[in-house]
Amino acid sequence: MFRQQAIRSISRRYATASATGTSTGPQARASVPNYALFSERLNLARSTILENKPLTLAQKILYAHLHDVGSMTSAPVAGETYLKLSPDRVAMQDASAQMAILQFMLSGMAQTAVPTSIHCDHLVEAYKGGDLDVARSWQSSREIYEFLQAASQKYGIAFWRPGSGIIHQLVLENYAAPGTLMLGTDSHTPNAGGLGMLAIGVGGADAVDAMAAIPWELKAPGIMGVHLRGKLSAWASPKDVILAVAGKLSVRGGTGFVVEYFGDGVDSLSCTGMATICNMGAEVGATTSVFPYAPSMARYLRATQRTGIAEAADTYRASYLSADAEVVADPSRYYDEVVEIDLAQLEPGYNGPFTPDLHTPRSKMTETTQAEGWTDRVSAALIGSCTNSSYQDLSRAASLARQASARGLRVAEGTEFLVSPGSEQIRATMERDGIQAAFEGIGATVLANACGPCIGQWNRDAGRAPSRESNSIVSSFNRNFRARNDGNPNTLNFLASPEMVLAAALSGRLSFNPLTDKLRDANGKEFALEPPVGSELPAEGYAAGRDEYKPLLDHQPDRQIPIDPASQRLQSLDAFKPWNGRDFADTRVLVTVQGKCTTDHISAAGKWLKYKGHLENLARNTLIGAANAAMDGAVNLVRNAVPSLTPAEGTIPDVATSYRDAGVPWMVIADYNYGEGSAREHAAMQPRFLGCNMVVARS
Ligand code: SF4
Repeated sequence: MFRQQAIRSISRRYATASATGTSTGPQARASVPNYALFSERLNLARSTILENKPLTLAQKILYAHLHDVGSMTSAPVAGETYLKLSPDRVAMQDASAQMAILQFMLSGMAQTAVPTSIHCDHLVEAYKGGDLDVARSWQSSREIYEFLQAASQKYGIAFWRPGSGIIHQLVLENYAAPGTLMLGTDSHTPNAGGLGMLAIGVGGADAVDAMAAIPWELKAPGIMGVHLRGKLSAWASPKDVILAVAGKLSVRGGTGFVVEYFGDGVDSLSCTGMATICNMGAEVGATTSVFPYAPSMARYLRATQRTGIAEAADTYRASYLSADAEVVADPSRYYDEVVEIDLAQLEPGYNGPFTPDLHTPRSKMTETTQAEGWTDRVSAALIGSCTNSSYQDLSRAASLARQASARGLRVAEGTEFLVSPGSEQIRATMERDGIQAAFEGIGATVLANACGPCIGQWNRDAGRAPSRESNSIVSSFNRNFRARNDGNPNTLNFLASPEMVLAAALSGRLSFNPLTDKLRDANGKEFALEPPVGSELPAEGYAAGRDEYKPLLDHQPDRQIPIDPASQRLQSLDAFKPWNGRDFADTRVLVTVQGKCTTDHISAAGKWLKYKGHLENLARNTLIGAANAAMDGAVNLVRNAVPSLTPAEGTIPDVATSYRDAGVPWMVIADYNYGEGSAREHAAMQPRFLGCNMVVARS
């Protein structure tokens, strides 16, 4: 990541205008992709290294983005060959962008080589709701926002202010384009696969490669085909597809694969529904997920002012934007694995608690809640996030809210109901079309267009949820590691469709099954909810939203980027010392991690998010979520292996710091699943900053 010399020389050789348009400056929307160029590159790869064999969609997009097919002599081998790729675009969120920008500043480049956007979404804390929370975030994170804004102006990056929306929703609305390749510094970047884009979550250093026009390396993935048949039933939604897939595959099942959907079921899904499915594909460990170009994508592109992309994509649907016909006709021959899903048989599901792959179908939820001893009472129901805040999601959930309102019913007593719109466009449309009123009519609080509770930025009312008390929450988010949402390790967090979240809000119980059970109205009379209904797209089109949330597109190459040397939030980077070429000796085992060790365990979010641009301060949270197998699974507690050092026993960062200061190298021994999650770059840099020289894991 500190390869500034290399970056400078390579960027001079390779910097070219993006294949998604001639402009590399700040863009409000994606340009029409150069499909003729992609096809030409793909055909060259087919005829030289691929023996003209049929290809899946993901392979087509990858091979059309090979940096230099002429240097390859044979077909890539999944799991072995490193592909050198030329991404078309980069998107970054405010937490991870800080470190990426600090690195890019070392490159010496005048502007990013590919269109890039920064989205301020993670640092907005959910507290009072909407604009009040955005205003508070300016008070608490002004320094970061001004740093990111100045860097955006200097390097020609589109800057989306806090309150404008969540990165993946904004990318879907503005930047995603079928058949293109994007890197995003967030693990749910695959959301854009719902619009046929190959969108891959990476650390900041990888994003910097793309921004500096250095070929980006990816180990050739296997391709897993998911065959969708039929059509969803009335209560089921796209969220239930990915909840079921996660249940089938587990959090490791997609590792090393791109998940590619195909089959007649695809055409029955909305574009935003497919985005939900791809978004949460990150939870099975997949490199990314992608859908073939479908009629609903064309409808969505037109509804979001990108008719030109839809027209161009229509032309390339068969040749470039879907798997070859031979693949679809004989999937088991061409996909490395095939998963079958009959949409008509899917029922709503709940995944959790504490892991996104523990799947319970609705029909088993009541008995499972009892058998597992889960807290039946639902203390909070949360709709929205980048995963499920589409017009379709919200309008379907609102149809249930209206039924309740018509009978004088509000959310259950003791249940908080929070809505996180994915973007200002969605919020404004929701307000105009009465969806917000429907939610507020039953007692909802509409939060800012930001991540909020999904990333632990939830200032939860202590009176309602005492910090360590066991309680259950149901959300339409995508990730539910322990303590992720509210910092309380005893909060049981279940992931479900927006419709099931609404049902949980009204009933206040996990055990309530809206398909079979009845609610009581204001007069105590029983009634059953009718199945939800909604619209794929707003009949009157999307509302534009308020001007202050439009992107800043202001390229000022001479702009200075402010970093106060005394800052506690931002710190310029120094290069790590390179390896001296000798074997490691006298390395101490700092911790032998028991169980999974995600990036949330290695570099916790919540209150630590504010230090994402200050490596030294952030390193104080290193591995604080890790359980030590050598001390009966004690969390964040280790013994010091060097008798002369203090503390003799202490937190992981404290003992690691004592080793670092004494020049004692250390290592981590991990189990499966080390480093899964969003904060991968920080999870790699922090241990190294504290003197770690290796992590040994089983996979
Ligand atoms: Fe934000 Fe949650 Fe989406 Fe991540 S998964 S981008 S934290 S809303």
